[in-house]
Amino acid sequence: MSIVTSTLGFPRIGPRRELKKALEDHWAGRRDAAGLLADAAALRTAAWSRQRKAGIGHLPSNDFSLYDHVLDTSVMVGAVPALYGWNGGTVPLETYFAMARGTRGRSSGDLPAQEMTKWFDTNYHYMVPEFARGQEFCLASTKAVDQFTEAKGQGIHTRPVLLGPVSYLLLGKAADDGMDRLALLPGLLPVYAEVLRRLAAAGADWVQIDEPCLVLDLDDATRAAFATTYQALAAAAPSLRLLLATYFGGLGDNLDATLRLPVAGLHLDLARAPGELDRALARAPAGLTLSLGVIDGRNVWRSDLPALLDRIEPVVAARGVERVMIAPSCSLLHVPIDLALETGLDAELCGWLAFAQQKLEELSVLGRAIDQGRAAVADSLAASAEAARTRRTSPRIHDRAVAARLAAVAPGMDKRASGFAGRRAAQRAHLGLPAFPTTTIGSFPQTEEVRKARAAHAKGSIDDAAYDQFLREETERAVRWQEEVGIDVLVHGEFERNDMVQYFGEQLSGYAFTRHAWVQSYGSRYVRPPIIFGDVARPNPMTVAWASYAQSLTERPVKGMLTGPVTMLQWSFVRDDQPREATCRQIALALRDEVVDLERAGIRIIQIDEPAFREGLPLRRADWQAYLDWAATCFRLTASGVADATQIHTHMCYSEFNDIIDSIASMDADVISIETARSKMELLDAFANFRYPNEIGPGVYDIHAPRTPPVDEMADLLAKARQHLAPDQIWVNPDCGLKTRKWEEVRPALVNMVAAAQAMRNAAG
Ligand code: GLN
Ligand code: ZN
Repeated sequence: MSIVTSTLGFPRIGPRRELKKALEDHWAGRRDAAGLLADAAALRTAAWSRQRKAGIGHLPSNDFSLYDHVLDTSVMVGAVPALYGWNGGTVPLETYFAMARGTRGRSSGDLPAQEMTKWFDTNYHYMVPEFARGQEFCLASTKAVDQFTEAKGQGIHTRPVLLGPVSYLLLGKAADDGMDRLALLPGLLPVYAEVLRRLAAAGADWVQIDEPCLVLDLDDATRAAFATTYQALAAAAPSLRLLLATYFGGLGDNLDATLRLPVAGLHLDLARAPGELDRALARAPAGLTLSLGVIDGRNVWRSDLPALLDRIEPVVAARGVERVMIAPSCSLLHVPIDLALETGLDAELCGWLAFAQQKLEELSVLGRAIDQGRAAVADSLAASAEAARTRRTSPRIHDRAVAARLAAVAPGMDKRASGFAGRRAAQRAHLGLPAFPTTTIGSFPQTEEVRKARAAHAKGSIDDAAYDQFLREETERAVRWQEEVGIDVLVHGEFERNDMVQYFGEQLSGYAFTRHAWVQSYGSRYVRPPIIFGDVARPNPMTVAWASYAQSLTERPVKGMLTGPVTMLQWSFVRDDQPREATCRQIALALRDEVVDLERAGIRIIQIDEPAFREGLPLRRADWQAYLDWAATCFRLTASGVADATQIHTHMCYSEFNDIIDSIASMDADVISIETARSKMELLDAFANFRYPNEIGPGVYDIHAPRTPPVDEMADLLAKARQHLAPDQIWVNPDCGLKTRKWEEVRPALVNMVAAAQAMRNAAG
């Protein structure tokens, strides 16, 4: 008998983003539903044949989704909120897309999309299930069965994947705040049972049920819910073997409860939680099949295969090959598809990388090594070990100057010279700003012309000088306009930036950029995260020229704009050969030089954006403080090289601060701007209760909507802010950058914002 290799899920988007094209054509009316479904089927076939060619044993089905697998699950169980007007039966495609995207601007009405939120600690976003009071469930889509049958028709026997019922409920939200989502299980389980029976009837043997919530902090009631759930599911279709898949962390204190569940197999994420293996081996019942998630499904690094075999072989020896499977740690949804498309990356760097396709090949080598002995795949193993060796030693990765710099970080380097009170006095004298100073978050509209010029420059159809001239004109126009309408702290507009991480990464060493390495962020939105492969350093100033140019045009202070170290880390693929914290410190030191250079160039205010600060929170509470401590330290390392009189701002475009407010305060930015317009300033409670000492710009203009907020509305929001904060603490600014808006929207909104600030000043006398 040979070992089973398996994948938990494969990217849906297609190597050339075929799914995006098909969806957008369909939404624009250029491709009908049948055409879209045919395109989708072709993508599934391609993914299966890719995996089969690589020799994978258990191939997933139902991992494909037109938009999102959580939305698919809502549709499977008939959790379609009433407003979408579904009357039972199979949920139609239009209803599915209405839930996904809303129906704004369509003749059929103006329905909102379902809420979207981050899938655990990934950059994938799922559609949040919504449960009404008295929510009932019924089988409303047979996609899981249909796609199993579809593969079978192509001669491929798959392992269908379902999002488990407990995680599904926990990921959703109840319309009534007080409602216990797990109380919905009795209604939900019969639908799952029916799906399992149908899968069994269609010929399935293994079914993978994903319960990623098992890696979270759970209470006893939730653990008990898992027990009743899996008893019910095991009984529903006794011929099926259920593989319970956990990922994104270790089971920790949920391990014993998990090992008691009546399932045939358990998948463990050994990339995230390598220590979990020994604990599981010590306690797992002999009959349980363990699926070892040894290949990192969240990252782009090539594995050290001999090292992995050192861990897998003893497990196989102890439990028997029929009780072990090997797999990536989680679905490959979170990695790009094929490194072979990256013809722009050099061979050495490529030698250190593995995308989904390469991970399949790695898995297959591991499988053959176990079945036939290492000698059978000696060349592949040697190449893998050699890549691991060069990665440990390459001077391209390990830069002595960076190491020396890191080692030389002295204790006080992450502190400003004076406390906030002293800095504030120095800054007031230096800046001479009015009460309730107005500013924006950095970017101005990235218009069609701006994007066109950038594309033309990238293609080489306009030269550097022409592009530069274009950007200078845009910048000058923005500066003049801000002066004209009376904004107090100006920005240069960020016209030269393609993306707030990429723009910096391209100027730092240790970063690499890809051309085709897209991963799904949500629906048809994909991102191409940069790859941090080596020590990060800043060979040259990155933003000083644009900031100085803008400052040269005006007497008013121009705010320098940087992306902070935590966000630079969080929105990239990060090297796995040192702690994330170490990489973040390197970035912090590189950015620190930029901050100092901006100050030297006469920039008096510098904003360090950290929109991803909260996203970095670990899944388990017990790990939060350690993260928050190093993340805040990295921010302070970036910010603390300047004199007291230089004002440091930060910006975070979200709103939940209650549970992390002391860490936010410990970042010690002189001014923080946050998103508050949509929540009507409610979240200022956290700052007020904490007695947040520094200055705050609570957003008064919701930039996510195209509307122009009237003066009164913004003045009201400021009056509300005034109830929570001292008058000399308050800044007046929008919620976030304006790059996605049009000038026609931005102009009147900012004119009104300045008027609202003026009204506050008048009222204050
Ligand atoms: N300075 C950036 C901008 O205005 C901040 C963007 C963000 O917070 N996501 O675009
Ligand atoms: Zn923002």
